[in-house]
Amino acid sequence: MNNNGYYGRYGGSYIPEILYTSQQQLLKEYRQAQADSSFQLELQQEMQQFSGRPTPLTPCRNLSKLLGGAQIYLKREDLNHSGAHKMNNVIGQGLLVKRMGKKRIIAETGAGQHGIASALIAARLGLECTVYMGAKDIERQYPNVFWMKQLGAEVVPVTSGGQTLRDALDEALRDWTDSHPSSHYLIGTSCGCAPYPEMVAKFQSVIGRETKEQSQQLFNALPDAVYASVGGGSNACGIMLPFQSDVAVELIGVEAGGRGTKPGDHAVRLSNNRAETDSPAMLGSPGIAQGFASIFLQDEQGQLQETHSIAAGLDYVGVSPIIADLAEKNRLRMIAAKDDKVIEAFQLLLRHEGIIPALESAHAVAGAISEIPQRPKEQNVVINISGRGDKDIFNVASAVGDPEFDRFLSRYLDQSLKT
Ligand SMILES: *Cc1c(COP(=O)(O)O)cnc(C)c1O
Repeated sequence: MNNNGYYGRYGGSYIPEILYTSQQQLLKEYRQAQADSSFQLELQQEMQQFSGRPTPLTPCRNLSKLLGGAQIYLKREDLNHSGAHKMNNVIGQGLLVKRMGKKRIIAETGAGQHGIASALIAARLGLECTVYMGAKDIERQYPNVFWMKQLGAEVVPVTSGGQTLRDALDEALRDWTDSHPSSHYLIGTSCGCAPYPEMVAKFQSVIGRETKEQSQQLFNALPDAVYASVGGGSNACGIMLPFQSDVAVELIGVEAGGRGTKPGDHAVRLSNNRAETDSPAMLGSPGIAQGFASIFLQDEQGQLQETHSIAAGLDYVGVSPIIADLAEKNRLRMIAAKDDKVIEAFQLLLRHEGIIPALESAHAVAGAISEIPQRPKEQNVVINISGRGDKDIFNVASAVGDPEFDRFLSRYLDQSLKT
């Protein structure tokens, strides 16, 4: 990365003039915190005491045997407090907010996972919290909205544009423009203007550092390959960046193949994987949106397209500039997994290993499963399980089709309407 926050031709900082002072303050505080051993100690303690780190690296003997290829290990970010890797980032930025003396955080959320993580850290650190969420997402993900409100956060429905994540992001930036002297914008993934991509990736890199140590303990070598799902790119950056200069370690990102290659049916920005996506070429193209330069799904006029994934967390039009650059330099290989393959992988992990991954993480599993049988048995492969799947009960139930579940829902509804 160069000093202006560019990774190759991606990244940078495309923000309104009025935010410049706040952004520079954030950059300065972040640099000082990185060099401050008391901040690093506090960060490490909070990761242990609030989120339960380190998370384990779990061998999957049954699944490895079943697939008959490389040995499979799962990095268990699902065991973080709040059930996903998002906790690593909110703890880091939360402690930075305290250090800057600000009293309020602003966050955007799609499915609500980052909204909940932000509300949790705000409650713990005694900060006010405003979460912007698309009105459509609020309808689809009401249980998460419920928890945010119970935790004391204010949830603001966004009714502009498509009423989803990227509209929420625009609205959060607007709030920050007005409130930056007293508020911090807590971005949930390694996107946005500099220094956010770098900062979020750094707070998440605890995943990769632990994985490195645990690989040595478990199989006395570095992994041959690391798989991670790619939405905005933060869990992938987190597990992969510590391996970046270990060139023998293959890095593979898995994005949302959705239900087809038409605009609005997928979130395939980078991969050029004929088998899985039937796509003739990379579907995204270079552009500038939401404060940074990267690869976006857009039409010829540069209008951002709609996206779809069975996993709400992968349903984003852009991607981290760090990921776009690594892919362009061929350090990272990007593939895509379609919704139906993701459900298959999800079920395989449940039945054979007793682990319920988030549907986002099940993309990484599906991508790995499509390649593991061809890998020699001596290889060791790590898959990042970015989160747990309890939150996906509604999506999974409708994908696998369980009429009892539908009956339960309507009974529950009847009862609560009566009381
Ligand atoms: C949000 C989320 C993702 C996608 O975000 P990244 O920034 O790409 O990591 C993946 N998995 C889970 C469980 C999530 O909650």
